[in-house]
Amino acid sequence: MSVAGDILGPEYVVKVYKPDSSVWAFLVIDNTALGPGKGGIRMTSTVTEDEVARLARVMTFKTAIAGIPFGGAKAGICVDPSSLTGRERRAVIEWFARMVKPLSPRRYIAGPDINTGEREMLWYVTANGSWRSATGKPVDYCMKLYGGHQRCGIPHEFGSTGFGVAESVRLALALSGLDAKTATAAVDGFGNVGTFVCKYLDAMGVRIVAVSDSKGVVMNDSGLPYKDLMKVKKKTGSVVNYEGGAVIERAVLFELPVDVLIPAAMPDVIHGENVDRVGAKIVVEGANIPMKDEFEERLHRRGVLVIPDVVANAGGVISSYAEYRGYNPKKMLTLVERKVTGNVRFVVTESDATGEKPRDVAVKMAIERIRKKGVPNG
Ligand code: NAD
Repeated sequence: MSVAGDILGPEYVVKVYKPDSSVWAFLVIDNTALGPGKGGIRMTSTVTEDEVARLARVMTFKTAIAGIPFGGAKAGICVDPSSLTGRERRAVIEWFARMVKPLSPRRYIAGPDINTGEREMLWYVTANGSWRSATGKPVDYCMKLYGGHQRCGIPHEFGSTGFGVAESVRLALALSGLDAKTATAAVDGFGNVGTFVCKYLDAMGVRIVAVSDSKGVVMNDSGLPYKDLMKVKKKTGSVVNYEGGAVIERAVLFELPVDVLIPAAMPDVIHGENVDRVGAKIVVEGANIPMKDEFEERLHRRGVLVIPDVVANAGGVISSYAEYRGYNPKKMLTLVERKVTGNVRFVVTESDATGEKPRDVAVKMAIERIRKKGVPNG
């Protein structure tokens, strides 16, 4: 499928191929009006050019809404990472870094996404040759720059995105007149974002009744303690092996009558078949593009509050900005909290006043900021 263009972009759609392992990869740099395109590298067997383009547009809006000097981009490497040895995985990342080097870091700055983390970012910057070419680098990656300044990594493994999503949940509950201490939640995904969402929600007193990962869904109405889930995940590789819960069908997670549903894994998990059966009062999008606009509209008309990805999961890209500026992790988390909750409050308040859904309010603000900067440089 070819990617459709509009007034904002995309500026570049790059497709590269690694013949010795039959791996395709995509880089879409959507819009650089506000700064170099920022976006993670996703490594899945299902990623497509179209998915990467949709994600790159999300990044264009997310960085503009967060008010940070980055544009929007995304990369996808189409391979099942579990089929690769460690050495092969490294070779694929290094290959991709070299292939996109003419654009990175000037027009594209990489970051972690599904199945990539601090280790991959270290491989990426090493192959690229510039510390600026990726964020989400390991904390012990430190570079002395000219003038004696030091730049160190802030890995997404610090949980900036999950922290911001959990803070969005806290505020969305409060703005809906619900108390976190008596609220219930279901979380789809138990990776970087999902684990930290569970950690922070658990600490707030939210009762997490269902959690999923790639192997399935575990449920317990009385609650699933974060620490126990984490132990089981580390020991056995999946939350489904948690003995304090029952394994349920994947589809049921999206229909549970919880206060908050948090998609924190794959795209398009809410779709035409299940949107009318979503049982939550609030959906906070930890994942990117967990549903298409038309389904968000349907939920909005039904009175379900949806905090969109471009607002709720901006913690990762705000952390990237903090890393770029050389902030320490504490200052980074303060910035995430301030920016994310400020924007949640703004979109919910405006949505209540105008009747528009929160995403429309957020996107309008993003487009205004991008237009003020004019058409990206050629
Ligand atoms: P990750 O690779 O760390 O974790 C992905 C999780 O999804 C794993 O628990 C995996 O088991 C699970 N999973 C895979 N297939 C699944 C399925 N079919 N059903 C349920 N779970 C499944 O990835 P991540 O970094 O946590 O990213 C998750 C989502 O959050 C993505 O949409 C990503 O774009 C978005 N996001 C991530 C960040 C970040 O900082 N990592 C920032 C913003 C947005």
